[in-house]
Amino acid sequence: MLKCPKCHTPCSGLTTLTSEVLEVRNKDKTPYLRRRRKCKECGSVFPTREYEVNELLTIMSSVNDEEIDLDANQTRLAGIVNDIEQDLIELLEWSKQIDKNRKNLNKHKNKSKKEGSDVN
Ligand SMILES: [Zn+2]
Repeated sequence: MLKCPKCHTPCSGLTTLTSEVLEVRNKDKTPYLRRRRKCKECGSVFPTREYEVNELLTIMSSVNDEEIDLDANQTRLAGIVNDIEQDLIELLEWSKQIDKNRKNLNKHKNKSKKEGSDVN
């Protein structure tokens, strides 16, 4: 069962009672759909991946296969690495945004303090 990694609340599939799908990505190089879910219980955001069953079986069997299709695996790997890279870029953007918001908030706090003393 798919659960929130933080609070372990089970995620529902189609209905969005306990988790909400924020984004769905379907890229050329990756053999899966990537969703970003938000847990409605704790607000935690986490990614999930949806594979076509045969594709997943191929991936799983290739792990034990002695004649691994290196090219196919490299393409998959490149796609996954690219995906992780995108995640990191996104995280960096978020952290920049959070930093900016924090600075603005502090500026605003200081400003309203000053303004407050002027008025009084
Ligand atoms: Zn949760």
